[in-house]
Amino acid sequence: MYDPKSMKATEFIDHFEVLDTLEYARKNSSNVPLINSILEKARLRQGLNHREAAVLLDCELPEKNEEIFNLARQIKQDFYGNRIVMFAPLYLSNYCINSCLYCPYHQKNKHIARKKLSQQDIIREVTALQDMGHKRLALEAGEHPKMNPLEYILESIQTIYSIKHRNGAIRRVNVNIAATTVDDYRRLKEAGIGTYILFQETYHKKSYEELHPAGPKHDYSWHTEAMDRAMEGGIDDVGLGVLFGLELFRYEFAALLMHGEHLEAVHGVGPHTISVPRVRAADDIDPDQFANGISDDQFAKIVACIRLSVPYTGMIVSTRESKDCRERVLDLGISQISGGSRTSVGGYYEPEAQDEDSRQFEVSDNRSLDEVINWLMKLGHIPSFCTACYREGRTGDRFMALCKSGKILNCCHPNALMTLKEYIMDYASPTTADLGNALIDEEIDHVPNLKIRSLVAEHLKAIQHGARDFRL
Ligand code: SF4
Ligand code: SF4
Repeated sequence: MYDPKSMKATEFIDHFEVLDTLEYARKNSSNVPLINSILEKARLRQGLNHREAAVLLDCELPEKNEEIFNLARQIKQDFYGNRIVMFAPLYLSNYCINSCLYCPYHQKNKHIARKKLSQQDIIREVTALQDMGHKRLALEAGEHPKMNPLEYILESIQTIYSIKHRNGAIRRVNVNIAATTVDDYRRLKEAGIGTYILFQETYHKKSYEELHPAGPKHDYSWHTEAMDRAMEGGIDDVGLGVLFGLELFRYEFAALLMHGEHLEAVHGVGPHTISVPRVRAADDIDPDQFANGISDDQFAKIVACIRLSVPYTGMIVSTRESKDCRERVLDLGISQISGGSRTSVGGYYEPEAQDEDSRQFEVSDNRSLDEVINWLMKLGHIPSFCTACYREGRTGDRFMALCKSGKILNCCHPNALMTLKEYIMDYASPTTADLGNALIDEEIDHVPNLKIRSLVAEHLKAIQHGARDFRL
């Protein structure tokens, strides 16, 4: 029985509600008056529910699809402007007791190099990341109570925050670890994490159980209800995501939005971010073994429809996607991307570790962070290393209220300029620095509030003379 307020996974992701939604969407995929009314609602920037969004996703009328894409671009521009926030993943350990069929870290894989970073290794990795210019990390670790207990994750977070190499600093650590208890989530919150991210992989319970034949992750309810426990433990910024390619994408799309509606209904705040990974090749994983792969066109449509449905939720695309694909979806709604990523354990300090096949997936976009920053600016985006909100206590419902009122933009744009300036001063190549300085000169005139504009100008000068870490 579908109930968004239920605390049971099978009720807030009710299988029959998803099937009814897909049927409703199919029947209405050419219903122009209905599609027009949904687009009208989307124009109000208040979001769409999963049924409305599913109709847009199914729509195959070219002129209506054009409207969907144009509106997604407009909403992206209104809420995020031309800024793109940068981050990098950091793999702590690939020991894992789960059996996920799409991941090379599954416990039966006996030939992959198993590695776990010591605190000394972490210092080397993070120093290398700081020397690239990163300020925001997403920690990744397999589930292994003996090798990767929570104490290890907590100690690693403490180590990461303590490293200050030259002008470098990691200012926000997001965490992507297995579903755990309320008490553990409380301890992660106390350790100062930003967002807790947990991909659902697939919302289809039967497929989920088949794709996770053994290990704690096999328990669909434990996994799907994790965000509720995280929020109960005080983590008010949580990140959702599905691994597109495992199940039918329409099913995942509707259920993903239902999960967001559930969080909003129960906790008063929806997901902070939504990630849209697709299955990629890896050590003993062939993406072709999964029958539900999606094309780049379908991928772009999903991104656009999510943007219309949850305008104030950040959307993340990683280096799983190629340069061309990332370029296409940036305008349609993506607000955060990774750059210069290594998906192996120890891959930043020892790039050759990539060859040892300890990586979780093959990276499609292999460019350095500097190349990605340069490319973004040439496309008209402002790369941002901002981490201000979490450090200023703007999280959860407080953050969402600022987003929904549009007031957050008064912070995002100036913070993007100031953190880009830091990047230019400390890490950029000469050509990237020239592009960046020209961009900042142009963009500072777009700060609408004159007081803030002159404050930012002052801070930019101070950064030029060696000061760091200004934020609004
Ligand atoms: S996806 Fe996560 S839980 Fe599953 S095998 Fe890979 S590391 Fe382990
Ligand atoms: S001000 Fe907040 S919302 Fe804006 S980019 Fe910085 S951290 Fe993100």
